[in-house]
Amino acid sequence: MINAIASTPRSYQLAAREAQLQPTTIRIGEAVVGGGVPTVIAGPCAVESEGQLLLTARAVAEAGAHLLRGGAYKPRTSPYAFRGLGLAGLELLALARETTGLPFCTEVVDTRDVEIVARYADVLQIGARNMHNSALLEEAGRSGKPVILKRGLSATVEEWLLAAEYILATGNPNVILCERGIRTYETATRNTLDLNAVALVKQRSHLPVLVDPSHGTGKWYLVQPLALAGLTAGADGLMVEVHHDPDRATSDGPQSLTHAHFAQLMEQVGMLSPLLAQLTHREPVT
Ligand code: PEP
Ligand code: MN
Repeated sequence: MINAIASTPRSYQLAAREAQLQPTTIRIGEAVVGGGVPTVIAGPCAVESEGQLLLTARAVAEAGAHLLRGGAYKPRTSPYAFRGLGLAGLELLALARETTGLPFCTEVVDTRDVEIVARYADVLQIGARNMHNSALLEEAGRSGKPVILKRGLSATVEEWLLAAEYILATGNPNVILCERGIRTYETATRNTLDLNAVALVKQRSHLPVLVDPSHGTGKWYLVQPLALAGLTAGADGLMVEVHHDPDRATSDGPQSLTHAHFAQLMEQVGMLSPLLAQLTHREPVT
């Protein structure tokens, strides 16, 4: 399959824009990722309890989110931090889907968990720390579910697209890239959201791209400006962390929007979206 299009000039082949004339569009429930209308994925960093998840799931659904997010298996820097509810978290996400009608995405951190996570989730998320984990990429690809592939903390655009290639090469065409900020010398923000990469990848690849301004900045009050900037740079949607009480969140409280701030963001996305659709610079330049 890869050899068949070996004449394309890039190290990645199936992910390259040259491999496909039309941009990839992925239908998930009622949302179409890459379909011209920004897709918004929102929810808590981690699933903490039934009450917490349902409260936020209802709030983001009401505000117009297309997908719910929530971590049941959390990759944490410290082994002593809260690492998620595991299977119980997946069951709560399924309950939230039943309650709100929103499909959900959730992270899988281990090849041994791909089967169980794929049994529950509508979309699998490969986190930044696992972008280079080729066994996990292939296992997620083979699940047949759409895969959100976050960019590694210090991955180049080429490495990111080669990681996507691992998933595509399993025969799964439904890969969604997600720029979530990279490590730079700057310490004033958690990461540096690389909007260069968003604009570049939209030209180099046919795959849809999301921006995650929550992890990209680490600060809730920077989420709105960077969300709008990301969409303007060409992103096909957003992934945003939302919590009913960010001060008490088990993870990523400082970057989580309250329900009210998320509703405000959705209004702004609604205002920006028709303008973006008219901008000619969104046409890929080759
Ligand atoms: C997350 O989405 O909560 C997460 C852990 O993201 P990342 O892999 O981008 O750090
Ligand atoms: Mn998080």
